Amino acid sequence: MKYEFHTHSPEQTEKIASDFADMIKGEKNAFIAMYGDLGAGKTAFVRGLASVITPGARVKSPTYTIVNEYKGEGVSLFHFDLYRISDDDELYSTGFYDYLSKGICVAEWSENTPWAIPKDAYKVKISKGVSEFDRDIVIEKD
Ligand code: ADP
Ligand code: MG
Repeated sequence: MKYEFHTHSPEQTEKIASDFADMIKGEKNAFIAMYGDLGAGKTAFVRGLASVITPGARVKSPTYTIVNEYKGEGVSLFHFDLYRISDDDELYSTGFYDYLSKGICVAEWSENTPWAIPKDAYKVKISKGVSEFDRDIVIEKD
């Protein structure tokens, strides 16, 4: 599958993400690999995911902590920021591999750990468009 979207505001990006979350929320161990530069809107997208999967969760970038856990009704959403991860020992020590089977995982900066992204992951690529609030979003799965 491959879906392409164009958004003009953070709210629209969150809406795309919440619609996507509605589609996949039944998949207990879904993995969403996120790609895109600083300020692209990855965390905004995660906010939209969380609004459906773990409503009420306060989503913020786990840049220093590497992973945030948001708890919902019978489901957890694990939010990774892999910006600082450069090798598998570092990744392993965050608990990454244990979390894969414990809930839905979403990882910002998946570019950094290509070896660790599950084969059946959804890939979400966000890029900036011509004007300040334009974003292109591609959601795909092999
Ligand atoms: P990232 O996690 O990719 O670094 P953030 O989600 O933290 O990015 O920040 C995205 C920034 O871009 C926010 O300041 C947001 O307000 C702004 N922005 C502007 N237009 C959009 C858009 N269409 N979608 C998402 N964010 C946008
Ligand atoms: Mg971010």
